[in-house]
Amino acid sequence: MKKALFLDRDGVVNKEKHYLYKIEEFEFIHGVFETCSFFQNKGFQIVIITNQAGIAKGLYTEKEFNTLTQWMISEFDKQEVIISKVYHCPHHPDFNAPCQCRKPETGMLLKAEVELNLNLSESILIGDKETDIKAGINAGIRQNFLVRSGHSIDETASQANQIINSISDLPEHVKLSSCTDSDLI
Ligand SMILES: [Mg+2]
Ligand SMILES: [Zn+2]
Repeated sequence: MKKALFLDRDGVVNKEKHYLYKIEEFEFIHGVFETCSFFQNKGFQIVIITNQAGIAKGLYTEKEFNTLTQWMISEFDKQEVIISKVYHCPHHPDFNAPCQCRKPETGMLLKAEVELNLNLSESILIGDKETDIKAGINAGIRQNFLVRSGHSIDETASQANQIINSISDLPEHVKLSSCTDSDLI
């Protein structure tokens, strides 16, 4: 079984902007490529899981989201980082029936577990909202990191393992088992 580094998108991969969907407004956060390379070299799949309620709200379309996603993946590709998959929730409870994918629900993580054959307990999650952390914990991920690079956060109330400034600090804070059974399979 493989393990994954799960990244929230807005506030983790790119600077948080209100309902971002335009390529020209997308700004990568410093260090994101280096951190992803680090984990890729340690055998992690890189997976993005993102709530995109702007689609439910009619602020942008699935097509616009997909165009931005393809561009983003190609930018990672130029840095030799393979994004295994991008999962998104297009729903919002004001416009849709409750769904299982909008974080803090675990739907996107559980779908990735099956589709990519992942061991979630060996995987790592990084997000900028407590709802990201809750989704990770509820899905059985044991290392969940909250960053200060996105939405403002309540550090005292967080259930995250650690709170770090941004994704560029992740490699130094993660505990990696040097050789686990899952590496040998
Ligand atoms: Mg976010
Ligand atoms: Zn959803």
